[in-house]
Amino acid sequence: MKISIIGTGYVGLTTGACFAHIGHTVICQDIDSSKIQKLSNGENIIYEPGLNELIREGLENKNLAFTNDFVKAIRDSDFIFICVNTPPRQDGHADLKYVEKVARDIAKNLNSYKIIVDKSTVPIRTAEKVKETIRKYCSKFVEFDVVSNPEFLREGRAVHDILHPDRIVIGVESERAKKMMLEIYEPFTKEKSIPIKITSVKSAELIKHGANTFLAAKISFANLIAEVCENAGANGYEVLEAIGLDERIGKNFLHPGIGFGGSCFPKDIKAFKKTLEVLGIDPLFIQSLEKINDWACERFIKKIEKELWVLDGKFIAVLGLAFKPNTDDIRNAPSLKIIGHLKNEGAKIRAHDPKANNKMRVIFPDIEYFQDPYECIAGSDACVLCTEWDEYKNLDYSVIKNAMATPIIFDGRNVFDKKEAEKCGLTYIGIGQ
Ligand code: NAD
Repeated sequence: MKISIIGTGYVGLTTGACFAHIGHTVICQDIDSSKIQKLSNGENIIYEPGLNELIREGLENKNLAFTNDFVKAIRDSDFIFICVNTPPRQDGHADLKYVEKVARDIAKNLNSYKIIVDKSTVPIRTAEKVKETIRKYCSKFVEFDVVSNPEFLREGRAVHDILHPDRIVIGVESERAKKMMLEIYEPFTKEKSIPIKITSVKSAELIKHGANTFLAAKISFANLIAEVCENAGANGYEVLEAIGLDERIGKNFLHPGIGFGGSCFPKDIKAFKKTLEVLGIDPLFIQSLEKINDWACERFIKKIEKELWVLDGKFIAVLGLAFKPNTDDIRNAPSLKIIGHLKNEGAKIRAHDPKANNKMRVIFPDIEYFQDPYECIAGSDACVLCTEWDEYKNLDYSVIKNAMATPIIFDGRNVFDKKEAEKCGLTYIGIGQ
């Protein structure tokens, strides 16, 4: 199958590389020519385990190409995957201007039947608008279908998640589009029994917003329980572990911390809240989980302030900058808010992240960055852990204790073992314990 990917970011690039890997012919397009130039030269633009290898393989066997020429990208393709960004507008609605622009560009250049697949996360009824837009701006009669095929990948595991998804959701209106969509995914599902949900287009759109809202709610629930435990003297670990053992609940995503960030949950639940409002439904549920999420980070900052009293002039080591491990993505990372606050109070920040230092340097050029966590911690008055990278799980508490000026750890992700850390002389402040 010939596939064009419009928008070569986290989703477009990994989707394109995986489609090329399973044998489709893929051309990835983007308006950002610096990205396209780097990718065409075999240089990656994001950190995602396993992605470099797939890009190299695709370029070598010519299943994968990159361009900023939109017409060239879509001319010969059977499928056009829209993977552009859908950021939040000031009022919380998803900003669909990039999706709309792609729809207009498709309309002007549609030369044969194509399936236009919306992979970007969009509010319910967006596909309807895409269809109307293409009809409106297309000067000749050319048949096409608009399909909703939401993406559920997790950054940091994106390649794995695309090649081994929990489910594939395809929202279609025509038999022709359904058959072709099933064909495109056949190589993924051939040897494994992966559930494929064929739904209406609107249902598929809602499944994505619904799933992200539910996951965000699980995290906020864990943070609420953690706060109850701290205030009442229970242990959040024990409580949440036991709650999660109920198979109706499940233990995934029941980890307390400093709140969710990233480019998806915060914006998707905002957009879903707007959808509820537009449909005349009370958005209280989403408002509550947003509030708990913001409070999780604020509460953590308050703990730092309470323990250190005056921050001005203190050296604070921040371990973990990415919004989650195994990615260099810092969009809406809690570390941004925490570093911003500590800096405003006059603290001197020393930062370490295995992959995200360069991206953070663009936002905070005036803090010190380290390649090694021990060097980052050395001489500091406190250490604040914001991302649960595996690398931090094996740090030697005795080395930390001896290296720090004052050995205080604020563990925003409960990565360290409280008892062991305290045994080694560290003052340990975690979440929910
Ligand atoms: P991104 O910002 O990394 O990539 C989007 C790309 O689209 C950018 O490179 C941008 O230059 C390009 N673009 C914008 N307008 C364009 C146009 N008119 N023509 C060509 N390219 C254009 O965003 P992302 O993280 O890949 O997310 C894309 C979509 O997928 C969003 O709707 C997001 O919510 C959704 N999604 C993201 C994830 C994730 O983990 N990142 C997971 C599932 C779904």
